[in-house]
Amino acid sequence: MDAKFSFASNGRLTTPAAPIHSEGNYFTIPGMVNAHSHSFQRVMRGLVEKKQRGQGDDDFWSWRALMYEIASNASAEDLELIGTWCFLDCLKTGFTHVGEFHYVHHKPDGSRYTPSYHLSKCLMNAARKVGIQLTVLHTAYHWNGPDDPAKGAQRRFIFNSVEEYLRHVLHALEQDDIEPHKQGLAIHSIRAVPETWLRPIAEFCATHQLPLHVHAAEQRKELEICQKVYGTSPIGLLLKHGVLGPNTTVVHGTHVDSADLEAMATSGATVCICPSTERNLGDGLAPIADYLKHQIPLAIGTDSHVRIDAVDELRSLEDHERLRLERRLVWLDHVPSLAEGLISVACQNGQRSLAPFQPAQNTDEVWIKIPVHLQEAPAEHTIQDWLLGGSGRDISRVKINGEWVLENGISTRLDEQGLGERVGKLLARYQTATAG
Ligand SMILES: [Zn+2]
Repeated sequence: MDAKFSFASNGRLTTPAAPIHSEGNYFTIPGMVNAHSHSFQRVMRGLVEKKQRGQGDDDFWSWRALMYEIASNASAEDLELIGTWCFLDCLKTGFTHVGEFHYVHHKPDGSRYTPSYHLSKCLMNAARKVGIQLTVLHTAYHWNGPDDPAKGAQRRFIFNSVEEYLRHVLHALEQDDIEPHKQGLAIHSIRAVPETWLRPIAEFCATHQLPLHVHAAEQRKELEICQKVYGTSPIGLLLKHGVLGPNTTVVHGTHVDSADLEAMATSGATVCICPSTERNLGDGLAPIADYLKHQIPLAIGTDSHVRIDAVDELRSLEDHERLRLERRLVWLDHVPSLAEGLISVACQNGQRSLAPFQPAQNTDEVWIKIPVHLQEAPAEHTIQDWLLGGSGRDISRVKINGEWVLENGISTRLDEQGLGERVGKLLARYQTATAG
């Protein structure tokens, strides 16, 4: 028997009561969605875990300086290669759809490519090579901070006006080389985008029925800047300008108060938590229990790709809450089983985050190996064993759009050895760039 989880008409996950006895000792789940990615940051793993000369405490802001250094050096070819490598890693852990929060738009000196969305095309090419679904979220970016002009590497990110940014997006939407339904918009943050841009961007998304993502409430310093300049929280500012809605995903939402939670719940927004990156950057712990209590849908993302493992991101949503609240089984206050809660986050909520205006159907399949000792166990035991202790290495087969793109954990499309060698050469360049 091919034991599968299925979604009932009410959208809830139903677990098969019978033991799993699939032919090859697998259980399957629908494709999982990585709702927040910056693929180029994959090269930073391992290079940014050292103190810089003359620097005291290391935090998000010093990490960001190194990220800029890398972003300023990457060619279009480099970005496509890194994207291919990163998306393959995503596929191998069971992600079948990635949302790329894409803000490196221009040439290193800030001049525009022709067409202006050339780098979006490179990322789409990378995803096609892997066979994974990609939604490119064209990201608005204008300045370093309120009334503080962009500097250095930020030249690659910025648009001079909201009109220029929306023209860029419209141009990409009108072309055939990126499918319109695989695109969306993003506001980098309330730091990088002026207040006056917020409403036109939200209205554009409503008119064109597109998803809208925004980094918000990630860092305490961001809250301080927002309070000082705008007299409210980042979530409050988004609410004021009509940015929050059912097609909106707030990325991080680490530091929120009760008014913020109320605003997000009322608007129907999704919150995308990125546990491994938030941990790595020392952001803090998002109040998962409060989100569940307010019935705010949660999705997951691997963000900076310091770790790419879907199941690890998922279990962190419970593990982090145990550490924050000093108790166990937090999710079971809100869902009948951990399996139902966490798989729904990865599958349904992720899909809703990237495709809020499209019918909720997920025909992709992820096949997970069942260890011998669990081959007679009930389905819920098996899947929870994997959720708590498994890893991406347990993913054996993945089918996307009817095609097996991963078999026995290996890409059916790519020469993985050759890809690894090309990436190795590229990494050698970055090792030199970040030395010292
Ligand atoms: Zn991010």
